[in-house]
Amino acid sequence: MKGRSPFKTNFPLSLKGEGDKGGEVDRQSSWGVKMRVPMIAGNWKMNTTISEAVELVSKMRRGLDEIGDVEKVVCPPFVSLSAVKELIKGSSIRLGAQNLYFEEKGAYTGEISPLMVADLCEFVIIGHSERRQYFNETGETVNRKLRAALKVGLKPILCIGERLEEKETGRTEEVVTQQLWSSLAGIDSLGDLIIAYEPVWAIGTGKAATGKQVNETVGLISLSIAQLYDKVVAQNMRILYGGSVTADNIAEFMPQPEIDGALVGGASLKADEFLSIVRQTSEIKGRLSR
Ligand code: PEP
Repeated sequence: MKGRSPFKTNFPLSLKGEGDKGGEVDRQSSWGVKMRVPMIAGNWKMNTTISEAVELVSKMRRGLDEIGDVEKVVCPPFVSLSAVKELIKGSSIRLGAQNLYFEEKGAYTGEISPLMVADLCEFVIIGHSERRQYFNETGETVNRKLRAALKVGLKPILCIGERLEEKETGRTEEVVTQQLWSSLAGIDSLGDLIIAYEPVWAIGTGKAATGKQVNETVGLISLSIAQLYDKVVAQNMRILYGGSVTADNIAEFMPQPEIDGALVGGASLKADEFLSIVRQTSEIKGRLSR
């Protein structure tokens, strides 16, 4: 991370003066850049017993395997991870956890360490707004969790997003940039970090943002990453949208060029709906890349 704070930067952010075309990161360019594979991740939150988790993933497995060109991730509760891992062996479904603790081991009753998560999972959600809201996670704890996850080779899905009053007072860009800054403080290499832009007012409310709004904010996140790291890091980084995504509205988001997929809560608990979200993503992103 470059050693300067975006708080000293005037909003809106800009790359002007950095010796190139300025003002934006060209995330559509394929020159010297890996293509970003779209991702749909299901956050099951605190839902499903072990047998329900097994039933849910059994219903999705075959259908998901038939859909190409999308990375499909499920994030069941901790207690179901082992059972789901067994079931998805040999399939295209990848596994993620919903949280971790930043210490590797010790007297932290009830917590799950990064090493334990890495034994089972490839991905881990960090900084979800429900953890910030109900479990007092701060920028500092999110930063420590992120470092811990990267250290053991996990691919973190870092959640950031503004609250309703912040949106209404025109502070989205500032809040999202500050969250990024505090989450990433002192981290030099982002590994396979994925960012999920999740406006808090859209999570679990049925009030999704619009594709255009999200595309703009994702563009700003990307610009911020380019300022904190460099343009290639920004071009390669997948940035998802999350907030009341359903099979009925996924087509609003996926045609937007900056949005690389979705983090899906409620709708990921219905096998048919999750399949439809993944299928539509594959079709829409496939059309765009042709
Ligand atoms: C989430 O849990 O990250 C989420 C976006 O939830 P929902 O899709 O239910 O709004």
